[in-house]
Amino acid sequence: MAQKTALIVYAHQSPASFNAAARDVAVQALTKKGYKVLVSDLYAMKFKASATAEDIKGDLQNPEHFVYNNEMMVAWKEGRLSDDVAEEQHKVEQADLIIFQLDRRRIICFVMSLQYPLYWFTIPAIMKGWIDRVLTQGFAFSMQNMYDNGIFKNKRAMLSFTTGGMESMYKDDSLHGDINILLWPLQNGVLRFCGFQVLAPQIFWSPAYTPPEGRAAMLDGWRERLGGVFEEKPLSFAPSEYFDLSFQAGFCLRPEVKDKLASEPYGITTAHHLGKPLPPNNQTKPKQN
Ligand SMILES: Cc1cc2nc3c(=O)[nH]c(=O)nc-3n(C[C@H](O)[C@H](O)[C@H](O)COP(=O)(O)OP(=O)(O)OC[C@H]3O[C@@H](n4cnc5c(N)ncnc54)[C@H](O)[C@@H]3O)c2cc1C
Repeated sequence: MAQKTALIVYAHQSPASFNAAARDVAVQALTKKGYKVLVSDLYAMKFKASATAEDIKGDLQNPEHFVYNNEMMVAWKEGRLSDDVAEEQHKVEQADLIIFQLDRRRIICFVMSLQYPLYWFTIPAIMKGWIDRVLTQGFAFSMQNMYDNGIFKNKRAMLSFTTGGMESMYKDDSLHGDINILLWPLQNGVLRFCGFQVLAPQIFWSPAYTPPEGRAAMLDGWRERLGGVFEEKPLSFAPSEYFDLSFQAGFCLRPEVKDKLASEPYGITTAHHLGKPLPPNNQTKPKQN
């Protein structure tokens, strides 16, 4: 059987940081499980964060009006992407080869993990740049291939991040508000949109204000989790079949589904809330049956 692959996309400037320690734990734990582990250390690579015409080799389709998505799709098809983007896409592509070679029943064969410190309630700019420039149209999604039908539907992905704020600050009745809402754009809008099965995020709350033994315990918990991460149930999202996927119908929830869900106490997801209370922990824990 082909060796399985995991990719850690990592964004921290300091090798002495807690994020570096979390990355190292992941590399060790996954290697121990027999995975080939790739790391994209974005700051060390000086990865370009801005999506520009420099990402394309050769002539543009429409230099008068540069449309990044369209130009990148054509360049991807014609093998004219810049070397740094092509290299990152190749790391993601390796997993497709592995899927192809694996027993078809095994769909859990690749994990993409984003490891970062929370910046302004989201990822650092350099990691957003990686997403903008690597998960491009055609390669990572299309109008026909998104969500349940997404290109990476046989792969798993997760966020692993540190915060400055403590856990109690990120509740629906505390200062910063509900962490589930903060996570929705990345977990649904990026990962799930591209088809990934999204695993519960690994959140290291406020390591800078945690005593050394507490930090060691966080890393031990991470190591232990990674030992069984490939058997974890993913987070739940609204099935694509709930929606009428046509421009005419506006991609809205099917009326019969709406009727069926009318008596449910909660909405479907953090964002598909149907005017009801949000389903508890929708973006932080898998749904209990
Ligand atoms: C631009 C910006 C925006 C920000 N926005 C937000 C925000 O919106 N919300 C928020 O909550 N925070 C925010 N922050 C704070 C930021 O999220 C935290 O500073 C960061 O998450 C802390 O993680 P770190 O890896 O940098 O910790 P570090 O400061 O590197 O580490 C914390 C402690 O862990 C120790 N450590 C390192 N390695 C190990 C090891 N192997 N074992 C045990 N201990 C170890 C370190 O020595 C240090 O004492 C922001 C920061 C910036 C710069």
